[in-house]
Amino acid sequence: MRAFFYTTLGSSFVVLFTRNSTIMIKRFVIYITLVAVVMACQSGSNKENQTSTDTTSHKEHKHSHKGKTNTNNSEENFDCRHCGMPSQEYPKWKAKIVTETGNIWYCSPRCMFISILNKEKGPKGVKSIEVISYYDTKPIDAQTAFYVTGSDVLGPMGHDLVPLKDKAAAEDFKNEHKGQTIVTFKDVNMKIIQELVNKQ
Ligand SMILES: [Zn+2]
Repeated sequence: MRAFFYTTLGSSFVVLFTRNSTIMIKRFVIYITLVAVVMACQSGSNKENQTSTDTTSHKEHKHSHKGKTNTNNSEENFDCRHCGMPSQEYPKWKAKIVTETGNIWYCSPRCMFISILNKEKGPKGVKSIEVISYYDTKPIDAQTAFYVTGSDVLGPMGHDLVPLKDKAAAEDFKNEHKGQTIVTFKDVNMKIIQELVNKQ
């Protein structure tokens, strides 16, 4: 297409200087028109190229953005590591283990304990563990918290270890909610978990 225009241009240029002046002016007008057409074509096709480049880079941008989002998701996965439920939907029950490689979330203390008691597959490089204190619904250190088992308060998984920030709060809760025992972090074992699981 462009080659055709250049050929036409060339030939009209030759004709331009081989005729008398009236024809020359007419030819000159045609020549200018042709130049204008060719320039328009070129700029049009450049624009087209530009547009397609923009589309491509936009797509790439979108893609890389998506990729980035995925990366963020994999860095901070809020789904319960044990059961897969979305931990953020249980703000009064969620538990978080901070490890050297990132945070691990759980829907409940129960799921967190099942995970951490699994020495083989459980989280490695644990720096700290947070659970939510029952009465004030604030994050507390799971390893200094007290837990009440067998109460009438059910977590997202059913019967759970209800975290309390100190012994006094644990005793209050046990009395108010028909709790069975008060245990510390180190007391929790798979036998206690199994009793909670069987209770439902
Ligand atoms: Zn869970």
